[in-house]
Amino acid sequence: MNMNEQMDHAEQNILHTYNRFPVVFDHGQGVRLYDTAGKEYLDFAAGIAVNALGYHYPGYDEALKAQIDKLTHISNLYYNEPIIRAGEKLVKASTMDKVFFTNSGTEAIEGALKAAKKYAYNRDGHAGHEIIAMEQSFHGRSIGALSVTGNAHYREPFEPLMGGVRFAAFNDLDSVKALVNEKTCAVIIETIQGEGGIYPATEEFLTGLRRLCDEKDIVLIFDEIQCGMGRSGEYFAWQNYGVRPDIMTSAKALGCGVPVGAFALNEKLGANSLAPGDHGTTYGGNPFVCAAVSAVFDIYERDNILEHVRETTPYLVRKLDELAQASPYVSARRGMGFMQGLVITGMKVGEVTKAALEKGLLVISAGSDVLRIVPPLVIRREDIDQMTEILRTILVP
Ligand SMILES: *Cc1c(COP(=O)(O)O)cnc(C)c1O
Repeated sequence: MNMNEQMDHAEQNILHTYNRFPVVFDHGQGVRLYDTAGKEYLDFAAGIAVNALGYHYPGYDEALKAQIDKLTHISNLYYNEPIIRAGEKLVKASTMDKVFFTNSGTEAIEGALKAAKKYAYNRDGHAGHEIIAMEQSFHGRSIGALSVTGNAHYREPFEPLMGGVRFAAFNDLDSVKALVNEKTCAVIIETIQGEGGIYPATEEFLTGLRRLCDEKDIVLIFDEIQCGMGRSGEYFAWQNYGVRPDIMTSAKALGCGVPVGAFALNEKLGANSLAPGDHGTTYGGNPFVCAAVSAVFDIYERDNILEHVRETTPYLVRKLDELAQASPYVSARRGMGFMQGLVITGMKVGEVTKAALEKGLLVISAGSDVLRIVPPLVIRREDIDQMTEILRTILVP
């Protein structure tokens, strides 16, 4: 089958919930991918901010293969060594107190919301609490996660969703304060909004939220699913601001390619929310995915991945700013670390991503008009040069 036949074949069987790019990938190496026809692509999408170590990073495959030969699944009714190691490493990196491993980001959000509700239930002796979420946010596609996702288009067909959710404007503390009442149990935000268009939180906003939540005993939840695991230059983006949440969620790059997420709780929530019987998962944190998580943390430490992001960010930012200056189609750049967005005007962002694909570069969109740059964290300056050269051929007439 040639690539077109393969794509037709896929559409015959796979539910059409994605307008996929017209390419069938075969394998990757480093920060490059190869399609089934043998064409090479430079990857600045990383499987939507997942493949932080690119492909076949030294030590990663070996750790997974070794675990496959020992044990892939055993359920959470028993202990296993990989979850013991992964739990310790995630607690250390996040400076939180307790973690729960899930199969996805969405499930990490579900767990975080349940933990916040249970905390308020324990405190007040009754249920019926409310949650404040942000406009233009994205937290996942399940009914619970969708309920706190600030995108009416995603939500509408599935209403009624979980009740008791109000939406405030991101980076606008007063709009959050205006929604707080005696039922409010949690505020949930992405530390850097991803799908909504790459909007980092302001320091003022995070500091203000922390103070507000402390005053009212409201659980502050930071969704670090996309911006976490080193993309900002720290393990978790909130660590750049020094504002610690009560609960944080992780996924995407947590396993660098295996389906795993987690929510992590501070001491207060760890001790006063979910208890035996309140929450569970069959697969979540199984030995296979936890071997990946553990290997990822080992590799980050061994090869100073966070330092590489911090050292290389100024170069990436400079090259993107130069491109923005030179292009009539780029009106702004924003972001933090290796999570950057270029605001595209006068051209559809979908045209840019499509043209880039044809020229051997993977980039994706965010929101309606933002070109999202979320490469593997192991890219080098030469890769940044190649990326901006390709984008120049599209965005600079
Ligand atoms: C991707 C994402 C999710 C959902 O994660 P899944 O693994 O797709 O379930 C939630 N929150 C944020 C910020 C995300 O970027």
